[in-house]
Amino acid sequence: MKKIEVRTSKIQGSGLFALEPIHKDERIQYIRGAKFKMVVKGRQEAMSIMNSIGVGRYSWLDTKNTPFRYINHSCEPNAAIVGTKTVVALREIRKGEEITMDYSMTDADPYWEMKCRCDTKTCRKKIGSIQTVPPEIFKRHMPYIPKNFQKIYLRTYIQRHLGIAPPVPHSIRKTPQKTH
Ligand SMILES: [Zn+2]
Repeated sequence: MKKIEVRTSKIQGSGLFALEPIHKDERIQYIRGAKFKMVVKGRQEAMSIMNSIGVGRYSWLDTKNTPFRYINHSCEPNAAIVGTKTVVALREIRKGEEITMDYSMTDADPYWEMKCRCDTKTCRKKIGSIQTVPPEIFKRHMPYIPKNFQKIYLRTYIQRHLGIAPPVPHSIRKTPQKTH
């Protein structure tokens, strides 16, 4: 278990920071949140579970009362979730560096979307569920994508190629939605 701390972040609001150096593939911490089920039926519900981390298509991990409530998204993250609740380092993380993950890798809710302010070279500007991730980004994150979300992505990818995929709601909207 690595020492981490919540501090003010340059990305947005509060963020999670490493209090010691962390090596690539090292476990940072487990997320000790409670699991809950929810079928998201619209945008309002999607926003109500914004601080939860997806475990599967309809199951979530409540990060309330855990430091992971504050983990920020980055399109070039230095951490990822393996399995359902183990946060590992994707590369060497320096002491004092902010710990980030790519939210899209653990979310399959088609109603969720967010403007990104990560300011990295490969920023996607607007992020959404795993189904919205371009193939090259999916490939880059493998194998650090939880199995459930790999399956959801690949199923949608095949369905799209066959022309039988249900549309992702926000990808067909004409006007960008305000997120915060
Ligand atoms: Zn970004």
